Amino acid sequence: MKKAIGYIRISDKDQSNFSISGQEKYIREYCERHNLHLHSIFTDEKSAKDFDRKAWQKLEDFMRTSYRDVDYLIVIKYDRFSRNAAAGLNKIEMIEKKYRIIIVSVFEQMSIDYDSPFYFKQRADMLVNAEFELRVIRDRTLFGMHEALSSGRYVSKAPTGYLNTRDIYNKPFIIIDKEKGPVVRRVFEMYLQGAPLKAISDYAVSNGFPLRGNSAITRVLTNPVYAGLVRVPAYKYSPEKVIPGIHDPLISTGDFWDIQVRLGVIKQPHTVQNEAVPLRGVLKCFCGKSLTAGNSKGKKNYYWYYKCMDHLKFNLSAIKLHKQFDDLLDNLSLDPVYLDYLRQSADRQMKEEVKLKSVRLSSVLYDLDSVTDKLESLEEKYINNAINPETYQKWHGKLKRSESALKYEKETLQEDRREYWKLYEEQLPKLSDIKAIYNMATITQKQVFIKAVFKSDLRYQDGVYRTPYLLEMFQPKAALLKEKRLLDYEKPLQISGVTPVCAPGGT
Ligand SMILES: [Zn+2]
Repeated sequence: MKKAIGYIRISDKDQSNFSISGQEKYIREYCERHNLHLHSIFTDEKSAKDFDRKAWQKLEDFMRTSYRDVDYLIVIKYDRFSRNAAAGLNKIEMIEKKYRIIIVSVFEQMSIDYDSPFYFKQRADMLVNAEFELRVIRDRTLFGMHEALSSGRYVSKAPTGYLNTRDIYNKPFIIIDKEKGPVVRRVFEMYLQGAPLKAISDYAVSNGFPLRGNSAITRVLTNPVYAGLVRVPAYKYSPEKVIPGIHDPLISTGDFWDIQVRLGVIKQPHTVQNEAVPLRGVLKCFCGKSLTAGNSKGKKNYYWYYKCMDHLKFNLSAIKLHKQFDDLLDNLSLDPVYLDYLRQSADRQMKEEVKLKSVRLSSVLYDLDSVTDKLESLEEKYINNAINPETYQKWHGKLKRSESALKYEKETLQEDRREYWKLYEEQLPKLSDIKAIYNMATITQKQVFIKAVFKSDLRYQDGVYRTPYLLEMFQPKAALLKEKRLLDYEKPLQISGVTPVCAPGGT
């Protein structure tokens, strides 16, 4: 009696047709029908790359040692065997030549002449067809994914801070998670305020953020999705790019790109500053990328222009942009009465801030005390063997994290900001002629000013300056600026539960 072994593999693509038990039934029936002794069946339940599968490895070990006792290797179909035609053919050749084991599909007759060239071609066709099918599916999936991403639609599993949902057309879409969204936003704020990564991580974890590993916070900070952007991977001839998405952002793109520079993910685009193009590096394209600058030589002078590396089609004349920006600043200037009002309200705000902070501080100190107590009692219980090491470890980690987050908040609250407010009041009168002040300033001062007023998110689109952020004191000017087509200010979505950072001067 001839001997056989069987090989079963399920792939997630067609479980319905060939379950493990279904495949086993086919193999057993085939052996009975052809009077073969079935020695054993090797089953791979997880799909893996090519022949790295667990049971397949065992099968090969078995063939290596016991090939003399085996005549046939029975599979359901050749696509069970391999979805890579070239690798599959090689393997078949090796098994049949070296071990003299013939590979048979349960849908074939035993009486086939396995040495015939026609049979070789038939098997090769089956393997190629299997691979072709897989490639078509993969190509279609990649194409669909690329299409969706290119239209700004985020299609993968939503990162923490967002939730997967579907829009009215039943297409995948992400929305802000009301609970975790504010935590993500705070993570970015803390980083911008200079908090150490450890403190940020402790804050995030104690607020229910599932972080793993040291680089977890960096991964959050470098994820463009949070800035309302979508990363489109390279596909065929188009290179990888980051484009505006259709979901709501948690942070501004300006802040996002600033953070990428700080983290060293992207290089500071412009180390050399040039008086001719002060907006280089601070003004953004509509896509959110910093505009770079170039020039071309005319008859007498150089003509400067701004451009985006992703949108080379648009050359923006520097002369035109600077003239428009001058007009913008002229209209941004505040009148003396309003400035006086600002000075008074700053005084009120400072007192208010001191009061709020002391209230919050006492609550933080109270929480800190209670965490310390809990830690002590936990240690006591542990020493007295009242709890097991696992419970101890779990609670110790939890409490330590909230202790560290509270300590950081305590430090922030204890900072003395009176000097800061004083400086603010001193600088206020300058805002009555912003254009003049700006034009006298050095290029670095100009850029600091722009970053502060527009929170690093001043864009230029369709011939108009646009921003989703405008320093509060200038907001009464917004309607006028819009009417004159000098600045289009559109507030980003507000999420409930986020405490605004009270910083009148902007940071
Ligand atoms: Zn662009």
